[in-house]
Amino acid sequence: MRLAILGAGPGGYAAAIKAARSGAQVTLIEAEEVGGVCLNLGCVPTKVLIASSVLFAKALRLEDFGIEVKGGITPNFPRMIERKNKIVTIQQKGIRNLLKGHGITLTEGRGTLTSPGEIRVALKNGSQDIVKTDGTIIATGSRPLQVQAFPFDGERILSSNDALQMEELPKSLLILGAGFIGCEFASFFRDLGVEVTVIEMLPRVVAGEDIEISALLEREFKKKGIKLLTGVKADKVDVRDDGIRVSFPDGKEVSGEKMLVAVGRAVNTEGIGLETVGVDRGSKGEILVDEKLQTNVPGIFAIGDVIGGFMLAHVASKEGKVAAQNAMGGNTTMDYTSVPSAIFTSPEIASVGLREQQALEKDIKVKTGHLQFRSLGKAHIIGEIEGLVKVISDASSDKVLGVHIIGPHASELIHEAALAIQKGLKTRDITDTIHVHPTLSEVILEAAEDVHGEATHVPKKLLT
Ligand code: FAD
Repeated sequence: MRLAILGAGPGGYAAAIKAARSGAQVTLIEAEEVGGVCLNLGCVPTKVLIASSVLFAKALRLEDFGIEVKGGITPNFPRMIERKNKIVTIQQKGIRNLLKGHGITLTEGRGTLTSPGEIRVALKNGSQDIVKTDGTIIATGSRPLQVQAFPFDGERILSSNDALQMEELPKSLLILGAGFIGCEFASFFRDLGVEVTVIEMLPRVVAGEDIEISALLEREFKKKGIKLLTGVKADKVDVRDDGIRVSFPDGKEVSGEKMLVAVGRAVNTEGIGLETVGVDRGSKGEILVDEKLQTNVPGIFAIGDVIGGFMLAHVASKEGKVAAQNAMGGNTTMDYTSVPSAIFTSPEIASVGLREQQALEKDIKVKTGHLQFRSLGKAHIIGEIEGLVKVISDASSDKVLGVHIIGPHASELIHEAALAIQKGLKTRDITDTIHVHPTLSEVILEAAEDVHGEATHVPKKLLT
């Protein structure tokens, strides 16, 4: 069968490879660059930069590790950007090779659905191509959401895309929005010495996280010297030659050299022919799909950021594989039971499953177990003792319902918890599993033990 995929981000290219391996004749259409937002303007470039800022912050503590630094160390921002661009290019080549190796046709241009079986592509070279297909997967992703009061100008008012193209570090930066993107940039720039002010309308930063986790991030951000203005709505901006001034309804003002607006994502559903073929959309413009990721038009599927929901690269990739199977006659449904997520601030955050406040809202009786990283030998060994793990289990069945981590390597540690939730395991299954010593993974073991008041490294008086 012939399958056309619109968009070569982590959703689109994963779908293409899955379908090609299953014998489909695949055409992958990409308007910009393979890898999509994730590789070019999102996950990868931000994490390359964060790797530098985390290393720099740690290098400032080298003497704690018995290493003397003669002369000072300073961040070289242009070199960081250069390294980021190099890594992105290597990854782009890797994806192009994978596509080629699987016999996937990469059509470089902007595609528009003209009928359920046809896509017109305005090719990058100025000509036009028509792709005939038996099935289509739309994976056109998202872009930074622009708010009227703070229009991006690429110079003073920046989107996350612009922030990744900066040539030098600003002296000070205002960040509007304390979601994961705003907080990752805040952590990165602050670790490099930039004066950072974060403005958030909601009462807390990373408000989607468990309440204890976001409280701890706030504490760590304040310790770093990040100024946090939560529960306030900025309403006006004044762009001047020497910087920017943001004001609030009560007349207060904050100023900075530049401002990063990170208040959400807009889905890419305009101009791709959805009206022509009759694909339904939701209130935020997102494409509506069923549990098999099929739209209301038979044979047209949609995946990734463009359907809203989690808006994470690994979710897009999984959806891509599910949609590819279904487009080829399969009958697979998408399972969102145990989607892990991570925020690459310093310290990192990672979580999966139920937050404690959600358990309260849903009236689910839960037990919780905690462990502070500082209780672990390994945390001291690597000199990163801040943070904790919180395990939430069903009070009657003992099943793991949620795990929330803030601390070193949280994004790596979360997968044991994701597996536990995915497979319906109990905290007893975790406590019965011997964990290597000394490792950070022991934090999950002991937090699970703490659910039963049995954690070895919790002082007796603190046992729950
Ligand atoms: P995208 O990656 O957006 O790709 C869509 C592709 O479709 C683009 O290449 C676009 O050019 C192309 N396209 C659009 N319209 C057309 C058309 N008409 N014709 C042809 N091609 C078209 N997620 C994580 O999981 N971990 C992270 O650490 C993380 N960090 C992030 C950091 C930042 C700053 C940002 C902005 C996002 C981050 N994300 C992260 C989110 C992640 O990037 C997205 O969830 C992911 O890229 C979505 O993948 P996708 O395939 O749905 O779409």
